Amino acid sequence: MMRLAGHLGLLAVIAVGVYAVRMGLDTLPVTAAPRVETLEATAQPTVTPEIQLGIDDLPAFNTEFSSVEGIARSKSIHTVIPSRPRLSVIIHQVQKGDTLFGIADQYGLKPETILWGNFELLQDNPHNLTPGQDLNILPVDGTYYQWHEGDGLLGVADFFEVEVSDILDWPGNDLDPRTDPAQPGIAAGTWLIIPGGQREFQSWRAPAATRANPAIASVSGPGACGSIYDGPVGISAFAWPTPGRSVSGYTFSDYHPGIDIGGAIGNAIFAADSGVVVYAGWNYYGYGNLVIVDHGTGWQTLYAHLSTLNVGCGQAVFQGNVIGGMGCTGNCSGPHLHFEMRSDLYGRVNPLLYLP
Ligand SMILES: [Zn+2]
Repeated sequence: MMRLAGHLGLLAVIAVGVYAVRMGLDTLPVTAAPRVETLEATAQPTVTPEIQLGIDDLPAFNTEFSSVEGIARSKSIHTVIPSRPRLSVIIHQVQKGDTLFGIADQYGLKPETILWGNFELLQDNPHNLTPGQDLNILPVDGTYYQWHEGDGLLGVADFFEVEVSDILDWPGNDLDPRTDPAQPGIAAGTWLIIPGGQREFQSWRAPAATRANPAIASVSGPGACGSIYDGPVGISAFAWPTPGRSVSGYTFSDYHPGIDIGGAIGNAIFAADSGVVVYAGWNYYGYGNLVIVDHGTGWQTLYAHLSTLNVGCGQAVFQGNVIGGMGCTGNCSGPHLHFEMRSDLYGRVNPLLYLP
């Protein structure tokens, strides 16, 4: 009897296979599918024993919903989930053998969240993970942002692709949900949790923003400009961008794509050539307050660490116009102008070869 059943079963499988081939199908016909569904449906209660439901009580089986639920449950089994949801950032000291994925798993977070929460330490590079480092562990997947003078809630929310209310409503941020987004009155230096926030990963270098595509710099920070701009075209003979002439700090190299020119906070910063402002504002990746001018000649110049900005997106500037004040914002150890020159043809070049 058993053998007969076996033979019949085998025949049935062969028959289905032959049917499939005849139909010219790569996969089994639909009639074979319900077996799988039944198996998964009956497996459900054993996976989640705490739910006291008979099969009859289960809702109509839905493959998509069920598989999503299954992943979420099995993940929580191996995760340190506190009994009450955590609202603020905690510190994880990196241990020998820790990996980005291991740490993320331990706190039920995506690996991205570990990088986004620790840009200053990790620079978006997991290879920078070192035992002894104190990592910020966000309470929720998202990004972590330090408020800067002149920031707007809308700009910050836009940048991280969330709603203003996502930021205002997160209890750990201690903000009044009725806050006016235009005038949030958030103190510079305040760290905000951006639940659900995300951004692209970025190296330290600024992308090549041009008047035709200033939005490419939108990964760099709220100073990015949006539209296509028209305006003055330069003469490709460049002027010194600040009264000081001495290179102090880094000169041009592989890891430093510009020169640092010495001076004092507030010293004038001049447009090195005529053009259009294609970036004006904070930059997340070390440049601090940043201006990029596109000269319409295939050249762009970049002015970083500024204390003040005198120009905005799309503004026409002429050679020698004051575009801002020297400062020490971003990754900076003393007042200087970090100045870069970029050509569509040559890439980033040593400004000392082009300045008078
Ligand atoms: Zn520099």
